Amino acid sequence: MKWDEMRESDNVEDERGGSSGSNSSMGMLGGLGAGGIAIAIVAGLVFKVDPTQLLGFLSGSKNAPAPQGLVKQPIKDRDSAFVKSVLGDTEDTWGKIFKQQLQTTYQPPKLVLFDGSVNSACGSAKTSAGPFYCPADKKVYLDMGFFKYLEATAGNDADFARAYAIAHEVGHHIQNLRGTSSMVRQLKSSSSKVKANELSVRQELQADCYAGIWGHSTAQRGLITDKDVTKALDTATQIGDDYLQRQSKSGHVVPESFTHGTSQQRVTWFKRGLDSGNINQCDTFNTNQL
Ligand SMILES: [Zn+2]
Repeated sequence: MKWDEMRESDNVEDERGGSSGSNSSMGMLGGLGAGGIAIAIVAGLVFKVDPTQLLGFLSGSKNAPAPQGLVKQPIKDRDSAFVKSVLGDTEDTWGKIFKQQLQTTYQPPKLVLFDGSVNSACGSAKTSAGPFYCPADKKVYLDMGFFKYLEATAGNDADFARAYAIAHEVGHHIQNLRGTSSMVRQLKSSSSKVKANELSVRQELQADCYAGIWGHSTAQRGLITDKDVTKALDTATQIGDDYLQRQSKSGHVVPESFTHGTSQQRVTWFKRGLDSGNINQCDTFNTNQL
């Protein structure tokens, strides 16, 4: 994946090594009680990430603690250059798509890099919660420990899998801009638990489809290869809810409790975006064929 050819975004806020929390209390979702946040969390976040592993990684951070309010720090390392490049490329891609396919202007999200814990308008979150999107402040929150975790899952060349995770969260931002998120919230408030969960699945699969649309654009410009795509699909297979449940519950799969869709569904919708590049192909809410 040729991420170094992508334009770097100015919308990344680096809060790593900041004062928003101590690493020692990781391992629980803490103040992450709001139902809205739970919906926004990407599949990967449901992994049982061993907090001690993350601690080991995070303790390597050389950033000095910053005073509260002064969170902007110079970003020079590879991981943050990568994040800026991928986010910048989603901005360019969605800017064009909004103009061409929706006749409107794209408002990009901010992306907050954090380690330890972070405060968002949706509540506080710990590293163990992984990346998420907060509709209330229109920010994507990404902890670098999750990147390490993806590397362990996707192997050495985890770049596109990482990019996919970012693009999926940006997908939730697009749902927020288009009013999909509030529609889902409203529908869920008057739905049964099973129905509400199905709505969550449709919302997650649409974010996967949107991630695929970004992939379509990068493929057209020769920035990703078939191998990158195969890898991303492989990762999607590994982070479907059925896979997660099999991993954690010795083979017993309970579809009612799915929130992100099965592995096959995630692959299907990612590919639909990837193959078409068309936002109208991502209507997961008006189909009987997930
Ligand atoms: Zn998601």
